[in-house]
Amino acid sequence: MRAAAIGFELGLLLAGAVAATLLQLAGLPLPGVLLLVVSLYLLRQLYFLWRLARFIQRQHRLAPPFPSGLWGEIYRALGRYQQRARKGRKRQLRFQRRFREAANSVPDALVVLSKSQEIEWANPAAAALLGVRWPVHEGRSLTTICAQPGLAEYLEGGDYTRPLEVAAEQNQSIMLSIRVAPFGERKRQRLVVGRDITKIFHLNMIRRDFVANASHELRTPLTVIAGFVENLLCSALTPEPHRRPLQLMENQTNRMRSIIEDLLTLSRLEMDDTASNLAAVNLPQEIEHVVADARTLSDGNHEILVDADADLMLIGNPSELRSAVSNLVFNAIKHTSTGSQVRVVWHDEPGGPVLRVSDDGPGIAPEHIPRITERFYRIDKARSRASGGTGLGLAIVKHVLNRHDAELCIASDPGRGTCFTCRFAVASRLWREDRRS
Ligand code: ADP
Repeated sequence: MRAAAIGFELGLLLAGAVAATLLQLAGLPLPGVLLLVVSLYLLRQLYFLWRLARFIQRQHRLAPPFPSGLWGEIYRALGRYQQRARKGRKRQLRFQRRFREAANSVPDALVVLSKSQEIEWANPAAAALLGVRWPVHEGRSLTTICAQPGLAEYLEGGDYTRPLEVAAEQNQSIMLSIRVAPFGERKRQRLVVGRDITKIFHLNMIRRDFVANASHELRTPLTVIAGFVENLLCSALTPEPHRRPLQLMENQTNRMRSIIEDLLTLSRLEMDDTASNLAAVNLPQEIEHVVADARTLSDGNHEILVDADADLMLIGNPSELRSAVSNLVFNAIKHTSTGSQVRVVWHDEPGGPVLRVSDDGPGIAPEHIPRITERFYRIDKARSRASGGTGLGLAIVKHVLNRHDAELCIASDPGRGTCFTCRFAVASRLWREDRRS
């Protein structure tokens, strides 16, 4: 509050007092004179109060000229406040417009769902990819507008770690990857992002088909070659100097056969994201069989310890799970030296069943761990080949686990050993019926 404004008000009151004294000297009665002066002062306050109320009611701008005194101060302060609010609103509108323009130019479909999962806003790409037109479909449920198979379950499921890949409803030749990001208060609103992945999808399909077809085509000639080599090796007519090269040829054809079989297994696993032919798998028994084979492979050079909960079974695809277990256990034998200890643990944990295969071998350096599950990624190529490895074992394990909603964790201490942990979902846990009886 400025001193000048208070001074003006005091001056007004002083002028009133002087006028009252003069009027009294002129012979007018004092109460009447005082009433007149106070009324005039109050009338002035009332007028400016009424003017302010009218300004606010009509949402008018408070602009100069402002009255003098305290009212002038109030008018000026409110005028400044109005100006600031106006600027803020303009800035917000500009930002909103720019955000809309940016969102509208995104090639991905963007749909904002309200807390009650109704369409609140969508960009133009959403019309082309998901059939959602804004503002026409505002307030409608997304799943009634685009009835893509699996979308309703995906939205309700609440697990958005993996995208949903589906064909666009209005154009089946378009492949969409749908992602959901919860946001807002208590993350109850959803941003649905639909991306056109047709090109990547087709490229992937071409690659997958090529690998599967090439492997398949190679299998028959290889079987013929392997058959002839075997016959020649078994024949008494084969000259002795030819036996060594024939033996090498047999080893190499066997190696090629293993690679082709693993490539075909991977192609089959890639066909679908989820495992099919689910059954109750007696994993302790599978572990027992794999460990028996591993003992043969080790030829007594390793100490293999098994600690498996005999009552804990698993819902999954039996042959896929067998393949994952054998790849992990055989790796622990192949990639560790004589005298190493291999431990296989199968038990239940609060987060779900866990299979752990650990060894006290050479371990894996940290820089290799993120890439170790890639196809043909080997730390020591020559060593892996010599041990009969195809470089595809861990890729198969990872695919099998992905298809079973399980995850693979690799922990290694170079020089001290490696531990592969497979964590399965609680839903895939199954106890033997006679366990609790
Ligand atoms: P491979 O057929 O060569 O075993 P994998 O995909 O199964 O192919 O494994 C990839 C690489 O990971 C192996 O070549 C090896 O270098 C490393 N590896 C796998 N398991 C172990 C282990 N238990 N200890 C040390 N290295 C391992």
